[in-house]
Amino acid sequence: MRRSITVFPKLSGKEVSAVVETRKQYARAFNMSAECLINNSSTSKRFLHEVQYGRIKEECPSLPTGLIQCARDVAVEAVKAWNAKRTKLRQKHPKKAERMKRPSMKESCTMRYDVRTITLRGSQLTFSTCDKRIRTIISIPEFFTERYSPSGGWKLKGANIGVDRKGRVFVNLIYECPDPAIEDRDGKIVGLDRGIYNIVTTSDGVRYGAKDVRRVKRRYNHVRSELQGKGTRSAKRRLKAISGCEKRFAHDQNHCISKKLADTDDVSVYVLEDLSSMDMLRLKGKSNRTMRKWLSNWSYSDLEEKLIYKCMRNGIRVEFVDARYTSQKCSVCKTIDKASRKGNRYVCRHCGNNMHADTNAAINIRDNYITRVMQSGQAAVNQPGEPSGHPANGWSAIGRPETEPVDKTLTSKPSGLS
Ligand SMILES: [Zn+2]
Repeated sequence: MRRSITVFPKLSGKEVSAVVETRKQYARAFNMSAECLINNSSTSKRFLHEVQYGRIKEECPSLPTGLIQCARDVAVEAVKAWNAKRTKLRQKHPKKAERMKRPSMKESCTMRYDVRTITLRGSQLTFSTCDKRIRTIISIPEFFTERYSPSGGWKLKGANIGVDRKGRVFVNLIYECPDPAIEDRDGKIVGLDRGIYNIVTTSDGVRYGAKDVRRVKRRYNHVRSELQGKGTRSAKRRLKAISGCEKRFAHDQNHCISKKLADTDDVSVYVLEDLSSMDMLRLKGKSNRTMRKWLSNWSYSDLEEKLIYKCMRNGIRVEFVDARYTSQKCSVCKTIDKASRKGNRYVCRHCGNNMHADTNAAINIRDNYITRVMQSGQAAVNQPGEPSGHPANGWSAIGRPETEPVDKTLTSKPSGLS
């Protein structure tokens, strides 16, 4: 588990310019490292050190060795990610894969520090720069030190240091704690549908965030379009400020929703649709232009992240299923018919099932997961070391509606499930 906190140490002008200069050389060290790795098709730190260290030392003479190593580590990770992305892209669009931009770092980058290059003793923070090691006193809010204390297993893992738009040096301290062994708890399986009109709808029919969010988003969209039309310098400045406000609003919403979901008592598993690719969205029938705009606007992955870590803390698992047809399928008779969906209602043309379209989709998501669990068998569901039997707990507590005929794949329950 990781937590981070940002502090703004008070630095003199000379110290700030030292940080800026360090950042320049850090970016150069990163770019040289990444270039070398790609040219030699390698991702080995050792290889990089042997081949490139001397040259980097020449190019960036005042960059401390510890920071060269940090830049090198970041470069290795970036190249690995780049390789993986390119391999994936090559299968579909070989030409695009060839044109893919190589990982590079700008001079306005944020530097990653590790425990060798940054230390915190009490409230005294020291970190390396091109000049000498900067020593400064910082204050970390009490709530943070209380909650993430060393006695609770929390350790400073490193930091990200950069300079923000206002020219202030910020230090983003990263604390880490080994993941506690959380026992899976008993409870039901709940499907979650994410959408435009309701950010989240559960298979129990609870809907989160609709009116407020839409109102605020509409207001921002309106103001943005007006400002874009003007195009003056102050309009551009205002646009930048708005983007920050909107982001913070979205993050706050996501925090509130994920917290409410993670604090629900009788849930053991949340099932989400896998929205990782736009292909999935197209298959879900959400591909017209306005819809895409809304979707790209809303930070789905941010909600996902927050939900996962909050649920992990409470012993709830988060699972993903195939997103296809979840909004077109009837959750009662399982017929896939696009025409059954009318606005926000799902009125099945085959069995007459009439419910909110998002709730219908959420039930389908939950049932897709249950089907998958059933098909793969109980053994595959239990991770090694986990107590056995929790799918049974989930299953007995699912509480399927009476009217719902049992899906074919569910009729043959494995023994051991009640
Ligand atoms: Zn139906």
